[in-house]
Amino acid sequence: MDSRAPLPDPPASAPCPCGGYPQGAEYSQCCEPALTLAAWPPTAQQLMRSRYTAHVLRNEDHLFRTWHPRTRPPEVEAEDGTVWTGLTVEAVTAGGLEDEEGIVEYRASYREPDGAPGELHEVARFVRRARRWMYLGPAEVLS
Ligand SMILES: [Zn+2]
Repeated sequence: MDSRAPLPDPPASAPCPCGGYPQGAEYSQCCEPALTLAAWPPTAQQLMRSRYTAHVLRNEDHLFRTWHPRTRPPEVEAEDGTVWTGLTVEAVTAGGLEDEEGIVEYRASYREPDGAPGELHEVARFVRRARRWMYLGPAEVLS
């Protein structure tokens, strides 16, 4: 089996893979509207969470369309065989309904294909483009 193939969507009533926003929210009430394009996430944090969930589900289309055209690579591929195991948002600066820029610091844990655990700790920058939040890139990668 292709280890980068998209995974099936979780049941709508399942806990959201991102942990939920607010915490514990169901997938249907959290990242599903973003991943199905029913609604663009209204805040930078929610956009970031939807990108984490897209990593979990290997939804490369969502990773591509939420990455600012100025900084995104020509193709965005899910990590081969990486299993994402949890997200913790550490800090949020701006990125709200009235903002044009935002910063979200988060930790995302994963297991590599050989089973080794890892963690991505990033301070990520987001900007609005045509009224939609977009991932611009890391302000800092801490681990
Ligand atoms: Zn979510």
